[in-house]
Amino acid sequence: MRAADLDLRELLHFEPKGGVIRFGGQRVLLFDAVALGILRRELIETLGQTGARGILTRFGYAHGWRTAETLRTEFPWQDEGEWKRAGGLLHTLQGLVVVAPAARGSNVSPEPFAESIWHESYEAEQHLLHLGRADDVVCWTLVGFAGGYLSCCNGREIVCIEDRCRGKGDAVCHVVGRFREDWGDEVSPHLPYYQKECLDAALAHVTGELKRLEQRLRARKKELGRVAALPDASGIVAQSAGMQRVLDLARRVAKVDSTVLVTGESGVGKERIARLIHDESPRTAGPFVAINCGAVPEALLESELFGHAKGAFTGASQDRQGLFEAANGGTLFLDEIGEVPPLMQVKLLRVLQEREVRRVGENKNRKVDVRVIAATNRDLAAEINAARFRQDLYYRLRVVELRIPPLRERRDDILPLARVFLAEAGVRVGRRVTGFSPRAANQLARYGWPGNVRELENAIERAVVLARGSRIDEADLPEEIGLALPGAYAPGDVRALDEVERDYILAVVRANDGNKTQAAEQLKIGTATLYRKLKQYEASGGAG
Ligand code: ZN
Repeated sequence: MRAADLDLRELLHFEPKGGVIRFGGQRVLLFDAVALGILRRELIETLGQTGARGILTRFGYAHGWRTAETLRTEFPWQDEGEWKRAGGLLHTLQGLVVVAPAARGSNVSPEPFAESIWHESYEAEQHLLHLGRADDVVCWTLVGFAGGYLSCCNGREIVCIEDRCRGKGDAVCHVVGRFREDWGDEVSPHLPYYQKECLDAALAHVTGELKRLEQRLRARKKELGRVAALPDASGIVAQSAGMQRVLDLARRVAKVDSTVLVTGESGVGKERIARLIHDESPRTAGPFVAINCGAVPEALLESELFGHAKGAFTGASQDRQGLFEAANGGTLFLDEIGEVPPLMQVKLLRVLQEREVRRVGENKNRKVDVRVIAATNRDLAAEINAARFRQDLYYRLRVVELRIPPLRERRDDILPLARVFLAEAGVRVGRRVTGFSPRAANQLARYGWPGNVRELENAIERAVVLARGSRIDEADLPEEIGLALPGAYAPGDVRALDEVERDYILAVVRANDGNKTQAAEQLKIGTATLYRKLKQYEASGGAG
């Protein structure tokens, strides 16, 4: 028979009771095209472009191969040409795509084994619907089908390549099939999608990510087992009311896409808060990209943020995307935004308004979908008054402002943080140090911490290295911390006596892991007195 004789009504057979549909004698299924489109989007989101393309190409290949096998056994073909034509026709009859012969467009020799124009590709349609216009061809299952079908028919490997595609904005899709050995170098980038290795690489990537996540969870659990004070689920210690407010606000703002300005002294942990916002936002699967704007020389900042074209300046040896593009679909954290020079402030403002970047040395704009979180330890209002920071950029950035209090304003967090750092440093340094002596704990709690959390972390790591015993003693702490004993005071930091007493008593109770009898003994006061005082602190809300 001839390909033109194929009739869908004869090929399709519905069992009277329903539930089973046969196509050329083989069971087939009816699928909703949109459901397949959703599957495609999910594959891309989980496995990445390469992994998804590999799976879908191989799925199409299997489908094409099976269709050819069915035809070979079911239909007696007049000649090989008919068999080849039947493939395109079946592709059309199955509703996947409308195949038309190509006008002899490719005058490349040798003449291709097969060449077609595809109209109405379901795959291009679904890609555009769920993912928008692509940069590359997208008819992966269809190309796979064509390759699988032709390879099975001919008993020789035939590789099909799509070189024009509706999915990337061409008027129609165009496909060429050749024997593998007839292709030149241009075939190499396409071959991996037919091979299982491509899928293996994608799965290895996902497995690696999962393993790293598991490791982090395990490390965290281990820490928790050893550390009395539990950090928040985010890993951020927030025993103090001030820090709990910050976390609460950060979580609420994470859900929406607003720009956030994180302020606070240096060392308070602004990047951790930015990460928390990213992790708890709908963008969590996308990248989190951070840059310290103060650390990049002015001349390089623009290219770093927006990218550059090859030859845009000396040393620009190839096209390079900037961090805005790298953060596409995710979050860009601009630390030390107060250090950005005036000219760049204008450009940054334009990007935030237009949601487009222009690479240095290019004259076209590229759309970016990025959430921006900026941070500074400067007083931007004062910078505006001094004409060093643009007011319009400030308002653009500060849709929501999160101010992280300095450590001295969240004293309830000092010892819990110190214990977390102790556990971490112990693991890192390979030493088992179990806790702090009451005097050391007291010094930590009393000190002003001008360098904030970062200073505390460094002090603890140093102490773990230096500790002679199994716990940190006051002698192991940096000298400046020792100067902050309750008996001493820093000029300008005079505190009310009962406040000092309260902090001291609470620190000693905590240093004894809440054992009040032991704490009272060390403080040389009666247990009843201690209980009374603690009750007072609780009533005044000062016990954290
Ligand atoms: Zn296409």
